[in-house]
Amino acid sequence: PPYGRVWNFSAGPSVLPVSVLEEVQRDLLNYGGTGMSVMEMSHRSKDYDKIITGAEATLRRVLDIPSNYSVLFMQGGGTGEFAAAYLNLFASKAVREKQRQLGRPLSCDYLVTGTWSKGGMKEVRRLGGHPRVVFDGVGEASYTGVPPVNEWRLGKPEETAFVYYCDNETVHGVELPPDAVVDAVDPSVPVICDMSSNMLSRPINIGRFGAIIAGAQKNMGPAGVTLVIVRRDLLERDDDSSDAVRNLPSVLDWSYFDSTGSMPHTPPTFTIYVCGLVFKWAEEQGIRELERRREARAKLVYDEIDAHPEFFRGRVDRAYRSRMNLVFNLPTPELEAQFLAEAARRNMVQLKGHRSLGGIRVSLYNAMPQEGAETIVAFMREFYANNR
Ligand code: PLP
Repeated sequence: PPYGRVWNFSAGPSVLPVSVLEEVQRDLLNYGGTGMSVMEMSHRSKDYDKIITGAEATLRRVLDIPSNYSVLFMQGGGTGEFAAAYLNLFASKAVREKQRQLGRPLSCDYLVTGTWSKGGMKEVRRLGGHPRVVFDGVGEASYTGVPPVNEWRLGKPEETAFVYYCDNETVHGVELPPDAVVDAVDPSVPVICDMSSNMLSRPINIGRFGAIIAGAQKNMGPAGVTLVIVRRDLLERDDDSSDAVRNLPSVLDWSYFDSTGSMPHTPPTFTIYVCGLVFKWAEEQGIRELERRREARAKLVYDEIDAHPEFFRGRVDRAYRSRMNLVFNLPTPELEAQFLAEAARRNMVQLKGHRSLGGIRVSLYNAMPQEGAETIVAFMREFYANNR
């Protein structure tokens, strides 16, 4: 890679396109003749307004976001949105009305496919809620896939506020096929999805979701901003919602962000600016092309894993293997340590599996060129030949 950079297989914060970093560098001290850095600009200025509204407009084009959806730039990360999703839905007019009709509190359904969906569910419990577990991979499959749809214990639509899942489990390397969940859920129930680690890597049928949440720091930009794409009717509140809204901190309030153009307070100005450049880059590539590339990169590595399954021990069922975070083990922890050390000597870094899981994790986000995938596959081949 240029500039003495490494092949960075980090699961996040992850690599950015070099052309974006170059543009940031070029404009760092004097943005567009303003005489200042974006970091030094008032978020209420005309120049900044162009940056944030431009970022949103570009993203809308890239993902073909329908006009009845709001795009919000929030803080607090994916974790902040675990709480926000639950609190906002339960403060919405839609859920309140349904609850009145039922005469008791609605539940919310959680599909647990790994660390992050489990985190979303735990946050609801922490806030005093009672999520229903549709399935939990632990015990059934220890997060190596997803049970068949006929085994999902979804609640009755009239008793369910929303269904929640994580599209790509960054730690366990489990990714759901597009529409797998929205196809299984009654259309009257909003589906809330965490797409933190595969956002912008393939087209999305946004119109089928209630809300999508995503931290920026994988495919969209630096850490510090969290994207929320939410169907506008879910932002409506009524008098009955007032108690729930009272418990909703303003920094997590989707309606408040919507009515203030994502600026009820100082937004992470620089991060949003960089995200805007990444959105522009993504638009130039095209979302279908980004999808084609993600499939091609991942195929190279999975083909190598499948060529020697007794050595490269993939842990996820084929149908649910992530194209973003490819996880596998080697026959012994010693070989894994050796693999990481030898890879580092060849400029390939951040390959260690998540601390909760161990093993190897090869993250291949949008900014990873095909050449990066080829480089690691060549290394895997050699490592196999020398150590099998
Ligand atoms: N969801 C997913 C899929 C993630 O990968 C992560 C973090 O890696 C999170 C949520 C939590 O995000 P944050 O660290 O921004 O709170």
